[in-house]
Amino acid sequence: MIDLASDVKTRPTAAMREAMANAEVGDEQAFEDPTVNALCERSARLLGKEAALFAPSGAMCNQLAIATWCRPGDEVICEHTAHIAVYEAGGPAANAGVMMHAIHGERGQFTAARLRASFRAKWRHCPQPTLVCVEQTANLGGGSVWPLAQLTEVAALAHEHGLRTHMDGARLLNACAATGISARDYAAGYDSVWIDFSKGLGAPIGACLAGSREFIERAWVIKQRLGGAMRQAGIVAAGALYALDHHVERLVEDHARARRLAAGLAALPGVLLDAASVQTNIVFFELDVAGLGFDAHEFSRRLAVLGVRIGAFDDRTLRAVTHLDVSAADIERCLEAAAAVLATRAG
Ligand SMILES: *Cc1c(COP(=O)(O)O)cnc(C)c1O
Repeated sequence: MIDLASDVKTRPTAAMREAMANAEVGDEQAFEDPTVNALCERSARLLGKEAALFAPSGAMCNQLAIATWCRPGDEVICEHTAHIAVYEAGGPAANAGVMMHAIHGERGQFTAARLRASFRAKWRHCPQPTLVCVEQTANLGGGSVWPLAQLTEVAALAHEHGLRTHMDGARLLNACAATGISARDYAAGYDSVWIDFSKGLGAPIGACLAGSREFIERAWVIKQRLGGAMRQAGIVAAGALYALDHHVERLVEDHARARRLAAGLAALPGVLLDAASVQTNIVFFELDVAGLGFDAHEFSRRLAVLGVRIGAFDDRTLRAVTHLDVSAADIERCLEAAAAVLATRAG
């Protein structure tokens, strides 16, 4: 099966497993795990922050940041398709008691002007924002890359109004691979930022959240509270370190494959796709359902029979994501399978 459903579908390579098996370990929550400590130092450096902590998942990093920066009743501003708003099971409300103010932008991004327009009257009747969140790259924005200047303007406006800034960097390194801009530059205006090791980087588990030393100390209290403190976590941190050493530079290959996939799909009858919009490893496309006589779910099912997995988002929309375990030849096979399914039409 060629699995384009998500970049979380990667499996650790033999070499990564070996690095994990040989990891030096200790008690993570006592800061005695040398591999976790090394990963945190390396992540903090990469992201240009004083300190970092290791968490089991990216979602936990978002939850820790929101709970650290906000008090119950505060408002968190994000784009309305942001992961924290749509895919974290109401965590911001349940874990931090905050209101989400999910504003409408373009492809998962908003401008400083849009942010300014979202501020409510400074009046005790209105909830007041304390945190602004951005997502680099924007997943439901089609893996779109926020321009650096836009990130900087948004952060500057937030800070001018006394708000904190948080970057969900699940795929931050994909943005870096696409533009050549460093992670620390993208994250410079953001008080907290994290990267995921279990997406395109191909590690099985883990994410690192970074910020000031004081922020990380406070976030650690919440991590402890949520049961995120671990023991010999160096076993998994070693996979993440291996990924930073071996799987970052190759992200450009995923992007080239996504562009090839998009160009190939766009040329097929019944597919609606602007191939030029593909900036990283995510390809959203729509089907001309009326013309084809079947919908995106049916397309996905028929494709799976031919050994290719692409998930349907709704009746018309599908998302394909390239990653470590999808080769250039796999993309060609995927395009052949898609062409075969689309050639069948209704019936
Ligand atoms: C996957 C993802 C997360 C959550 O990360 P997990 O490691 O799956 O918990 C958060 N934000 C974005 C944009 C993501 O794509």
